[in-house]
Amino acid sequence: MSSVGAVVACLEEFAPSNLAEHWDNVGLLVGDRSWPVERIMTCLSITPAVLAEAIQGKAQLIVTHHPLPFHAVKTVNSDSTVGRLLLKLIAAQIAVCSPHTAFDSARVGINQHLAIGLGLQEIAPMIPANGSDPEVGSGRFGTLAEDLTLLQLVARVKSFLGIESLHVVGRDEQVVSRVAIACGSGGSFLAQAVELKCDGFITGETNYHTCLEAEARNLALVLPGHFASERFALLSLADYLTDLLPGVEVWASRTEQDPLRRL
Ligand SMILES: [Zn+2]
Repeated sequence: MSSVGAVVACLEEFAPSNLAEHWDNVGLLVGDRSWPVERIMTCLSITPAVLAEAIQGKAQLIVTHHPLPFHAVKTVNSDSTVGRLLLKLIAAQIAVCSPHTAFDSARVGINQHLAIGLGLQEIAPMIPANGSDPEVGSGRFGTLAEDLTLLQLVARVKSFLGIESLHVVGRDEQVVSRVAIACGSGGSFLAQAVELKCDGFITGETNYHTCLEAEARNLALVLPGHFASERFALLSLADYLTDLLPGVEVWASRTEQDPLRRL
């Protein structure tokens, strides 16, 4: 048996909240630190279906990558989706904790996982965090052991993330040797990728005008989707918490799906 407070402290150790972006909302977002915890579910986002699974599975804590609530809340009522989810969470006495961008940026966070999984070498943060540890910060970049064409890089991304299709900006034969990575919606890191002399940039999703900017800069852009770029890490987070919390059952949501379908 553990407690909400003890699990939050474990997560803080793993993904310190001072690594979170300034606009973010991380840490314990719903619940009481003294609540007991024997069952934890991890997920990318809390949706009605994901919450139904947590209630059915008797989770006492949800560790969600995306914060709920994210924006400041002035009312908690059933008029909004966020309000309905919060009412249900509190009624079921399920706590919510979110590491979000602290997890993206952590030493063994999502971007580091992606960089290693895609075979980058000499990996470093795109924007180092303030502090003494040069291995943490926003995004990652590094060099490939050997140059790849954009098509070869795409095959590698698909294979690592287990997806069948993705969006791309660039020519099939364009050569990529130095790659920047920002999980989720990382278009704002494009200028930094150019600054770091990267010729490839992988982020989950971005908008049309950022795609045009990548094209104008001759930067090969690979967009596997927001869900695919982050969801895999919630499986490893569940394993990590299982190892750290003996006697606590931890699972990654089994119902969670990408809301976007490609037809
Ligand atoms: Zn995200």
